[in-house]
Amino acid sequence: MSEILQKILLAKDNRANLRNTFSAKKNVSISLSLNIASYPKTNKNISQFFNLVLADLKIFLLANKVFIDNRSEVNSIDEAGNFFIAIVKNKDITSSEIKQITEEFEENHKLGRFIDVDITNKHGKNVSSHKKKLCYFCNEKPAIVCMREKTHSYPELKSFISKKINDYLFNEKKKQITKQLSSIALKSILYEVSLSPKPGLVDFYNSGSHKDMNYYTFLNSSAALAQYFTKFAELGYGFNEDLSKAISKIRIIGLQTEKDMFAATNDVNTQKGIIFLMGIALFSASYVFYKDGKFTISNFQETVKKVCKSLVYSELQNLQVYKTHGEKCFEKFGLKGAGARHEVEQAFPTVVNFALPVLEKYFRGNKKEEIELALRKTLLAIISKNNDSNVLYRKGESILKKLKIFSKDAFIEDKEYNKVCKFCIKENISPGGSADLLAVSLFLHFTKKDKNEF
Ligand SMILES: [Zn+2]
Repeated sequence: MSEILQKILLAKDNRANLRNTFSAKKNVSISLSLNIASYPKTNKNISQFFNLVLADLKIFLLANKVFIDNRSEVNSIDEAGNFFIAIVKNKDITSSEIKQITEEFEENHKLGRFIDVDITNKHGKNVSSHKKKLCYFCNEKPAIVCMREKTHSYPELKSFISKKINDYLFNEKKKQITKQLSSIALKSILYEVSLSPKPGLVDFYNSGSHKDMNYYTFLNSSAALAQYFTKFAELGYGFNEDLSKAISKIRIIGLQTEKDMFAATNDVNTQKGIIFLMGIALFSASYVFYKDGKFTISNFQETVKKVCKSLVYSELQNLQVYKTHGEKCFEKFGLKGAGARHEVEQAFPTVVNFALPVLEKYFRGNKKEEIELALRKTLLAIISKNNDSNVLYRKGESILKKLKIFSKDAFIEDKEYNKVCKFCIKENISPGGSADLLAVSLFLHFTKKDKNEF
């Protein structure tokens, strides 16, 4: 007998001994191991896979009211691979009922044939399902037959297993990152809209310079946006084409999002601007995680630049007829009126250079007042630098200039904030473009802080 085989058998003996100590005290035990034909039986990826399966199994058991005794848990790695065992606390459920439940788990798992959940009853006997598992490689003969007859070569099996596990881990990571990024995006737009009071913008207490929407219109709209945030991030994670090809694909999701936004708000444009900006930000942040495994602002900016290359030219300079507000604003004011398109083409300079340092400095605690101060300061820092096309389009350059100066004053002296709010109401202006940039700033700040690495 080979030395390796001897070591594996010894490890299996030790596992059997553990089961026996549990059954000696009339306990039913449940164990998890993987069905890995290659050797060594584990490595970094296999262990990661095992831990994900174990976490899913624990939730599955809990959902089916099978309770395991945490104190009895053993989670180890030996020559036979990864291994978990624990005592089942329930006394009112038979071991074959537990077996049925765990079989359902195996059958529904994407890589269920790699997974072995074994139940040992209180007499120390393995509870068998009497079902023969098919070989995961050929999917034709029972696994035990292929194993005995050595139907498949060792390298064949090894590369098959590692490919399946790597694909599984990739998808799990993608799910985790897109889930977290979209959650941060939603949090960011809710923070922005909730900051109250705000100059000319919709907030919790009033609707600023807007007649057709209020705080609740924004909640309706945000709820409609939420599911699409995941889609922008999913597009970025695993994107393998040239980045210049991304913008039209981002736009497809953007247009679907807009459609749902209008449906949720009775045709009021609440968040068209943020859909565009956050769509690009989500795609790019997710792409950075995919490429680098971690998030940095410089790699984020590099990605955004490639995605939005020549955007102002292709969407504004190159036009024959100027129709929308944004287009007309560019026709009249040139680059100064290019708004969000110019900001993304330059990879968010207002956000990165002026907003993020302010958030870094002021976003310290979790108290309401602390958060509000940080948001207010950041919004003012943005307004004082941004050529907000909403303001420019409606009132022209001199009012925009005044707004920027007042905001700068209020940034320095917090008590001047009301003056900015009153000015916006008097002039009937709403710096919506700046509010959108506040949301993007929050998104980048939280992504950088919370989820630097996965
Ligand atoms: Zn086979």
